Order: sequence, then structure tokens, then C-alpha cells
Amino acid sequence: MTTQRTKQGCDLPTDDLSLLYSAVFRQSAEGIVITDCNNRIVIANPSFCQLTGFAMEEIAGQNPNFVVATETDRHQYAAIGPTLESNHCWTGEIYLLHKRGNVFPGIMSVTIVRSSDGNPENYIVTIRDIERHKLVEQALEESERHYRTLAEVAPVGIFHTEPNGDCLYVNSRWCEITGLSVKAALGKGWLGALHPEDTQRVGQEWYDAANTNSLFKSEYRFMQPNGTVKWVLGQAKAELDRHGNVVGYVGSITDINDHKAAAATISHLAHHDALTGLPNRLSFQIQLTQAMATASRDRDRLATLFIDLDRFKSVNDALGHNAGDGLLVEVSRRLRKCVRGSDIVARLGGDEFVVVLSDAGDIAAIGRVADNILGALRKVFIVENKSLHVTASIGIACFPEDGSESEVLMKKADTAMYHAKGAGRNNVQFFAEDMNTAALERMRWQQDLQKALTTDQFELYFQPQFRTVDRRIIGVEALLRWNHPREGFVAPERFIHIAEESGLIIPIGEWVFDTACKQLRVWQDAGLTELTMAINLSAEQLRCPHLLPFVENTLAKYRLPGKVIEIEITESAAMEDPQACIRKLSSLRNFGIRLAIDDFGTGYSSLSYLKLLPIQCLKLDKSFLMNIESDNNNIAISTATIRLAHSLGLQVVGEGTETEAQYQFLLEHECDIMQGHFFSKPIPADEAFDFISKADRFDGQVQRLVAAKTNRFSFAS
Ligand code: C2E
Ligand code: MG
Ligand code: MG
Repeated sequence: MTTQRTKQGCDLPTDDLSLLYSAVFRQSAEGIVITDCNNRIVIANPSFCQLTGFAMEEIAGQNPNFVVATETDRHQYAAIGPTLESNHCWTGEIYLLHKRGNVFPGIMSVTIVRSSDGNPENYIVTIRDIERHKLVEQALEESERHYRTLAEVAPVGIFHTEPNGDCLYVNSRWCEITGLSVKAALGKGWLGALHPEDTQRVGQEWYDAANTNSLFKSEYRFMQPNGTVKWVLGQAKAELDRHGNVVGYVGSITDINDHKAAAATISHLAHHDALTGLPNRLSFQIQLTQAMATASRDRDRLATLFIDLDRFKSVNDALGHNAGDGLLVEVSRRLRKCVRGSDIVARLGGDEFVVVLSDAGDIAAIGRVADNILGALRKVFIVENKSLHVTASIGIACFPEDGSESEVLMKKADTAMYHAKGAGRNNVQFFAEDMNTAALERMRWQQDLQKALTTDQFELYFQPQFRTVDRRIIGVEALLRWNHPREGFVAPERFIHIAEESGLIIPIGEWVFDTACKQLRVWQDAGLTELTMAINLSAEQLRCPHLLPFVENTLAKYRLPGKVIEIEITESAAMEDPQACIRKLSSLRNFGIRLAIDDFGTGYSSLSYLKLLPIQCLKLDKSFLMNIESDNNNIAISTATIRLAHSLGLQVVGEGTETEAQYQFLLEHECDIMQGHFFSKPIPADEAFDFISKADRFDGQVQRLVAAKTNRFSFAS
């Protein structure tokens, strides 16, 4: 059996191979003709006959050219054959002619078979009908055109990207929405054009959708190159090839900007007060709960300030609702200015506002904010060209002290606000329960003290001092009085220490010193040239670096020599920093000022330091004169103190001389100066002037005068 080696190198029996070739030739879907070297058809397969409509007998001996439809293609065909090399194949698209006369597109291939000497032996011509294919291609082209047109007129933005997200196609609506030109978009990823706040989220959503081959659907913002922000609803899906590989993405974006704006307006209206734009009650409750959760997590204090305008109704009644509305708008503006951006300011309705201070700090800090609010609201309002004055009452409740639920906190702030109204309006009240009531009280006093300075609530009273030896009034002690608008006269004992703690003692002390000097000037001008003025100074004032220049300037301002002033400091003030105190007192002494230790015996009573202090006077504390006729301890202490002082060359003032017995005791023990209710209570300046002018000598007549003046003032406790 002869065999023949195929190209692939397998040996097949020649007979088998012939059978195989013959089967391929007969069954091929392509039309095949084999010609001789002169291009005359030797044989054609059934497909060729079927494609061309000719029977084998009709075409045998013909040039295959006869099925080529056009002259040009025939020329082209004729030129191909001889130029072909062995095993080379010419392929081209040409129009073929059917026996019926119809022309159809086909693909023709021509292969030459050469003899061993290289001469053409046969040509193998194949033809394939591509009419169907052409029709499909045309249809595809057409539909692509349709889709493109459709995409261009679509009201949504359409895009097509590569698998990596780079844009391959964007329609004009897409360009309109994103603000990008086609040129700027193509070849680039659209994620880069998003609002920076959305990029990461949308990237993740896109990634997740791509990974699960699901529909990407998300709302996000495009940031147009001119800065305009556009909300869109974007949808996209991966395009997969036959093997399931992603070959790109197609998607759309819908402009939802108006929808978003409308939704935001609706939500704003639902959560905000239409007049002032502040959060309304509903929104406030949500915000307060959130703020409390944050405060609880961060262990911060949160303060709820319930603010109610005082007598707002009368504004509405007198000036009409428009003016009332204008006022509320301005109030909300001022409230916002008083607090940090992170704090909540809301309008609960009517003239009720609420402020929530997050990370509020201590009670004093909260009080300062509340005070600022009162101050801001007190300033004149100009509404419809009219000046309006309003005040507000503020109630404060704090988290966590007053409650851990928003309703409880609000209720307590509300209660505190009603207390503020009850306390005369235009003031702040902390809700007080078991919380450090004393601290709250102090803080209230601090606020009141601050106000007292600027609103002339202070006054000086003067208590005469008698010299025992000639029973003449040689001086007065200036004592501070506070005429509190609600509490009436408040005793210094109740407020001096608060003023000291808060630092307010500096301005208050300066006011005292200035006012006392001014008064002394008046009295000197009226003839009381010998009178001295004793002024109390606290430790804080002594520490103040401006004390010396202030004292010097004030003396100069009222043309007073230092010697007419006596400065009283307590033992404890002197002992705080003895060295510094000695230096300060020495400087004061250099101005000629007399120096006295007040309330002697109640503090350290350090005799060794006493010796070092440049003082001239000791004021025996009034507690040592109590029951002096019978209390042996007091007799011993007072006697020893007077003796000690004299031995150190100091004068002694018997303070708090109330009774005849005390007077007699001090007289007997040669106490130098006496001061107390037995002679006179502290009295206002004009009364003090009368008293001093008339009471030249302390005798029976004066005693009656004194008695008549007692009990004129009682302090609120
Ligand atoms: P102080 O300096 O020892 O003033 C004497 C206090 O004794 C005064 O009380 C005075 O009213 C009171 N007093 C005088 N005579 C009698 C008496 O016969 N019987 C009784 N029971 N009391 C008498 P006041 O005015 O209430 O002042 C109390 C304290 O407040 C003063 O004690 C002083 O430490 C302080 N203070 C008053 N004014 C000022 C001030 O301007 N600056 C400073 N830093 N402290 C002041
Ligand atoms: Mg005093
Ligand atoms: Mg005293």
C-alpha cells in the first residue's frame, strides 16, 4: 500500500487520503473549482454549482471569470493567477454573478499549483457567498447609527468605558451634566470628575458591583470644572464577552440636582423654623439626643440654655407681628453669634429659643456664655426703623448632672428659666438640685458683681474712728456696700471673697480706693483737713503689680498726701508671701501712707513677722471684745495684744466697740483708737460729714446723736 505524508507529518494511505480530499471537496460549504494551467475549469464542487446556479456540464472548460460580475473584477482576476507563487493564496472581495443574472457579494480565493519545474499546473478557486454576512453587517451599522442617534437625543447621560473605567464614548447629555467636553472625557476615568467627598464611596460601590457582576446604582455628585456641583443618579453594568470576561461598562447618569434641592428644601422645612432658619423643635430633639450621646462618649459636660424673651408679647401687640418677626430673626442671629459653630441654636416656637453648648466646660464658663447672650440681647434692636429694647431670661440645665435624657434636661432648663423670670427677668438661673448649689450661687454672685460695677450698684459707707486720748474723730474707715437690685443691701462678708476668687476684687478695690480718695478730697475742701481715710485692701490687691502706680496716681489725682490714707490688710494677706508683702508695704509706706493690720488675732498672729512689717497700727478683732466684762480669755487676749502692740511702737484700734463696758475696758487699757456701733455704724458720706462736723468731742450729747443713728441699715442675710 502506498502512503503519502500529510503536511502535519502523519502518514496516511494514499487511497485514504484521496478519499478524504474528495470528501472535503464535495462537502465544503465553499464553492471550489479547479482549473488547468490555462485557467479552464476542470472540476467544480456541488457548492460552486449551487452558488452560481450552473451545472457542472455548463461550466467545464470555462474560465472561472465567467462568474465574476464586473469588468474590473474580471481584469483583477486575470492578473492574479500568473503572479502567484506556489502555496500562496490571493483572497479578495468581489461581486459574483448567478446564472439567474443576480449579482451577490462574495469572497474569492485563488491558489496556484505549480509543477516541479515551476510552471502553473492548476488553479484552485474558491468562492464564498457573503451576502448574508453583508446584510447583517449593514444592519449592524444601521442599528449602531440608530443607537448613536438615540444616545445623542436621550435625556440622560450615556457612557461606555473600557474595563479600567476609561471612557470610550459619552453622549452630549453626559457632557452637559458633567460639564466636560467629549475630548476631555474620552480616554479618562470619570471617577476623577466626582465631588471629592463622593469619590471614595462611589469607587467602592463600583468595585463591589463589578466584582459581583451586578448593576451599579448610586447617587453622587459631579464637580463641574467651573465648580458647579451636579447630583446624578448613575447606573452601569459590565459588558461581558462569551467567556464572561469584562470587556467594558455601559451606563447612564440622570441629573437629579433639582430633585435633590427640592428634597433638601422639604427636609429643611420639616426640620427648620421657616422664620429664622434655625432648627425647629423636632430637629432640635434629634440634635440634642445626638449631642448627649457624644458628650456621654467623650465624658464632656453639655449645657442646655432655655432662653425666653421677656415681655415679647408687648412688642407684638404694640408694633405688630411684622416687627415681632423681625425681632425674632435678629435675636436668632445674635444667639448664633454668641456660640461656637458646633453648638446648637434652635427655636422651639414663639419667643422660645434653646442653645446647647457641647463640651461646655465648668459652670463658670457656661455662665459666661449665658451672660454674653443676655448682653447681646440687651443691645438695642433696630426693626422697621424703630429701636427696640428686649431682655431675656435664661434657664440652664447640664448633662450629666441634671439628667441623662433629653426630655428631663429640657424640663429642668425650662424650670430654671421660670425661676429666672421670677427673679426679675433679664437673668440666668442654673437648675439647682443636688448639684453643687454653692458653686452655682457663687457663680451667680460673680455675674451679679460684674454687673454691679458697671451699673453703679456700689456705694461707700464710712465708720468714724475716735482717738481715745482726746475723744476726737480722727478718721473714718471706708466700707463697701452693695445695693443689689434684687437682694437689697448685701454685706461685704457675702461678696468680698467671691470678688477675690474671680479677680473682680481688683476693679472693685480700685473703685473703692478712688471713691474714698475723692470723698476725702471733698471733705478736706470742706474743712476736715485732719481726717484720715482707712481703706481695706485684700491680698489679691496687694499682689497686683499695678497697685503702687495706681495708688500714687490716685493720690495725685485728688491732691492728697499719703499720710491721710491708712491701708488695712488682714494678717492672712500679710502672711501669704511675707517677703513680697514687706516690699509692697514699704513702698506704700514711702508714699507716707499709714498701714494697719486688720482683724488682728484671727489669723496667724505671727509676732516675729509682725515686727518686720512696716506697720503703724493693729486693729484688735471685734470678737475679742465680746463679753469683755466677763470673758476672762478675751480680757487676757485683748490686754496682752494692746500691751504687745505698744511695746512694738504700734497703735491699737479697738474695732467693734458696741457697748459701754467695751468702751470702758478700752479706755482703761489705753487702747489708742476706738471704732464701733457704740459711736456710729458705718453711714453714707453726707451723714458721715454731718456726724463728724457735729461730734467734735465724744461726750454725752454725741452719745445721744450716736444712739439716734444706730440701726439705720440692716443687711440682707
Ligand atoms: P473690717 O475691715 O474688719 O470692717 C469692720 C467691720 O466691722 C465692718 O463690717 C463694720 O461694719 C463692722 N463693725 C464696725 N463696728 C461694729 C460693731 O460695733 N459691731 C459689729 N458687730 N460690727 C461692727 P462690714 O462693713 O460688714 O465689713 C466686713 C468686712 O468686709 C470688713 O471687715 C472688711 O474685711 C471687708 N470689707 C468691707 N469693705 C471692704 C473693701 O472696700 N475692700 C475690702 N477688701 N474689704 C472690705
Ligand atoms: Mg477694715
Ligand atoms: Mg476688722
